[in-house]
Amino acid sequence: MKELSKIASAVQASATMAMDALSKQMKADGYDILSFAAGEPDFDTPDHIKEEAIRAIRENDTRYTPASGTLALKRAICERMKADCAVEYEPGQVVVASGAKHVIYLTLQTLLNPGDEVVLPTPGWVSYFEMIRMAGGLPVTVFAGEEERFKLTPEKLEAAITPRSKAIIFNNPSNPSGMIYDREELQALADVCVKHDIYIISDEIYYSLTYDGVSFTSMAALGDEVKRRTILINGVSKSYAMTGWRIGYALAEPEIAQVMSRYTSNSTGSPCTISQRAAIAGLTAYQDEVYAMREAFQTRRDYIVERINAIEGISCLRPEGAFYVLINVKEILGRTIGGALIHDAQEFATELLKQGLVATVPGEGFGVPGFIRWSYAASMENIEKGMNRLEQFLAK
Ligand code: PMP
Ligand code: GLU
Repeated sequence: MKELSKIASAVQASATMAMDALSKQMKADGYDILSFAAGEPDFDTPDHIKEEAIRAIRENDTRYTPASGTLALKRAICERMKADCAVEYEPGQVVVASGAKHVIYLTLQTLLNPGDEVVLPTPGWVSYFEMIRMAGGLPVTVFAGEEERFKLTPEKLEAAITPRSKAIIFNNPSNPSGMIYDREELQALADVCVKHDIYIISDEIYYSLTYDGVSFTSMAALGDEVKRRTILINGVSKSYAMTGWRIGYALAEPEIAQVMSRYTSNSTGSPCTISQRAAIAGLTAYQDEVYAMREAFQTRRDYIVERINAIEGISCLRPEGAFYVLINVKEILGRTIGGALIHDAQEFATELLKQGLVATVPGEGFGVPGFIRWSYAASMENIEKGMNRLEQFLAK
């Protein structure tokens, strides 16, 4: 048989999805696994959203919609973004697709020519690496460590830019570090992007999850020059506990949005009609459930940070947003736990799963070796149990 596509064959499975699948399989096999691997709110989708979906089915709102989403949803997105992020867009600038992951994929397919470079700050979300390659691009990673609070600086960004740089993928609040860039930090990075004329893919899917009253600034709120080159990515998965409904969206200049719409009209077609109706209900309702979830996440964050830093040999910074914490396990590397020699974070996560029955994601996939990522989008009860297991595992 002839060779498969080189690009497709080189794609690695998503480390987050792989760990999630493995822990679910172990659970199905009868193991008492606690999973903190995939970042997925444990909350149920709020009732008013579910009711709207049921209404949509009853009303036979079950046919194709325009490929880039319904006008009603686009309007709801524009209004929500204006109210929450102080950014103004017209419905013609919105592209709705099947999850933010899909929207980022569409964006990269729209922006890149073969060999174009995309600056990728690390630690960064696993799927960015692969999606850049899938679009024929080259990821150029720029690392910022714990001592820099995992944040990219304008100097490092400047140093990473070459004549082949086309875009940067920027994620604020960050998965996996939970760090947030303030307005000044964003402006300094945006200035470099404007100077070198590169697009900013700004993934702001965790924008509603910021803690301690920290206010969020959208990249697109920094003025017209920045907004023009920004493709703003957002979605309903995290804010409304709607991961399985698969609705994400991009806001961009009309010409960019049009290319993205044409691309999706020939690939997936429209996103799920029922989910679009449900998303409108989430976006337009009073946002009290979003605030309640945020408060719950903050309480969990406080608890988990205190527990981690009380355990000898591991530590973490205090995340400011999203629902992940990067645990520094470097002191443990080289030690033997329960008969297994732990060389790296990958082995740490594997042994923690095998011996401690706790699933996390090793940092290597996010470009941050020596750390594991723990999602605290889980019940307080499970977080407490998970922390006890981690402590017992390390005491072995
Ligand atoms: N961006 C980031 C940073 C994420 O963590 C996720 C989580 N899956 C996504 C995008 C995609 O979300 P979804 O496809 O569920 O909208
Ligand atoms: N974004 C989540 C995570 O990082 C969900 C899994 C995924 O889509 O990769 O865990």
